[in-house]
Amino acid sequence: MTLAADHPLLDPAPDAGAIDTFDSLEPGTGQVLASYPVHGAEEVGQAVARAHDAAAWWQAQGWEGRRTHLRAWKGVIARRMHELADLVHRENGKPHADAVLEITLAVDHIEWAARHARKVLGSRRVPAGLMAANQAASLEYQPLGVIGVIGPWNYPVFTPMGSLAYALAAGNAVVFKPSEHTPAVGSWLAAAWAMAVPARPDVLQVVTGLGPTGAALCRAGVDKLAFTGSAATGRKVMAACAEGLVPVLMECGGKDAMIVDDDADVVAAADAALWGGMSNAGQTCIGIERVYATDKVYDAFVSELSAKARQVRAGSDPLASYGPITMAGQVEVIRRHIGDALDRGGRALTGGGVEGPYVEATVLVDVPEDSSAVREETFGPTITVARVRDAAEALQRTNATSYGLAGAVFSGTARRGMAIARQMRSGMTSVNSVIAFASVPALPFGGVGDSGFGRIHGADGLKEFTRAKSITRQRFDLPVQLLSFSRAPKVTDTLAKVMAMVHGRG
Ligand code: NAD
Repeated sequence: MTLAADHPLLDPAPDAGAIDTFDSLEPGTGQVLASYPVHGAEEVGQAVARAHDAAAWWQAQGWEGRRTHLRAWKGVIARRMHELADLVHRENGKPHADAVLEITLAVDHIEWAARHARKVLGSRRVPAGLMAANQAASLEYQPLGVIGVIGPWNYPVFTPMGSLAYALAAGNAVVFKPSEHTPAVGSWLAAAWAMAVPARPDVLQVVTGLGPTGAALCRAGVDKLAFTGSAATGRKVMAACAEGLVPVLMECGGKDAMIVDDDADVVAAADAALWGGMSNAGQTCIGIERVYATDKVYDAFVSELSAKARQVRAGSDPLASYGPITMAGQVEVIRRHIGDALDRGGRALTGGGVEGPYVEATVLVDVPEDSSAVREETFGPTITVARVRDAAEALQRTNATSYGLAGAVFSGTARRGMAIARQMRSGMTSVNSVIAFASVPALPFGGVGDSGFGRIHGADGLKEFTRAKSITRQRFDLPVQLLSFSRAPKVTDTLAKVMAMVHGRG
């Protein structure tokens, strides 16, 4: 049975005629799901050239036309949700139900971007001010042209969608290079587009391959490159884009923390930490990898978290809580982090075991702050929990990392929770929940430091794929012309006096 037989939208022979191919593997078994072409610089260049042509058509559709087409795409994805979820499960390894949740969020983002693009980006009048009282001033946000999107594998639908839907809604064509671990999911999204907008499948195209294909996309004449992946690869992408002064959006990794304050609901905090840390086998950029619990709640929190962690299980069967580690190489990183923590005095209250691609839910305590489990992105189902004096110390330790993507705060007092959230050095924080900000399409998503810069989602996410265009239109002549060589000398004196009257009093 081929992959395409179960997923009718997929090309039945994606590798036909390709000189070089790579395999997409099922993480649980290591079995080959399908082979995909390794697109080189020439094919990537051709895709980008087609996209430039498609961008002109797409821009000509106007706000209404684009909204209709985006909704048609959303409709295909929503109607075929189980088909896509099954593909995500097979290619990434996460449970089917989690894949459905991921796709649901992505669908919501397409709708938000389609519905709000005109309001956020469309032409609006702005006050012209005293100096230009005779001008009508307007501002609009115009599409850049063609956006290159390079995606990761951990949320192969939701994560790239933050760039795809928002770039498209802003009026750009897109060439998308999915991760080499999830090429079928990326291809499925493009096939869904082709089904929804058969007149112009080239508005959203997919190129497949490994790192060099991504590097080729950076150099293929795109007007902006939206990257999601590790900070290390992000640096390479920036270097390649710098050659052509191509602007970049960087959505990179994280080492997110949860702070559990004195008056927190410890049971709710433990439940959220477990989900935030272990769901998707811990392979979540905004997952919880560290917890700082104050002295007052530490013991209760740790015992609650450990009890709950003993009830979750890795596996590929329908009842498993989370799946295998998607990339075989990542298992070694996780093993190294757990080993380092234990070698240096840490204790695993639960888990610690690794069986093939399956890693047990691991709660680590007494781990030194300078160990790799606390400092580096683990990307596995592990959480370190540390006892701190108070929220101030929790904040200081939370912020002592080069990353700054997201985080969570549990507090019994709304005002205190908000105050701690504000001081967390990260792009996003949830108070009394985890990851909730990702499900609010109006909220921008992105990080600081090694977690990257720029924003997807929300109005900022739409603007990210545009350039501001300012226009003034002269409505009438002023009695005194300031911007002319014919200006009388006394005009400057009068101007200076007016300025002194208006601005000189403070
Ligand atoms: P990765 O950096 O290994 O790869 C990301 C993408 O970059 C892949 O498509 C890959 O083929 C491509 N690539 C590799 N080398 C390249 C090069 N030289 N030039 C251009 N492209 C190249 O990351 P990954 O393992 O796929 O994803 C996991 C990482 O992504 C984690 O660090 C995770 O935290 C991060 N992530 C961040 C977000 C976010 O929104 N901030 C979301 C999801 C994942």
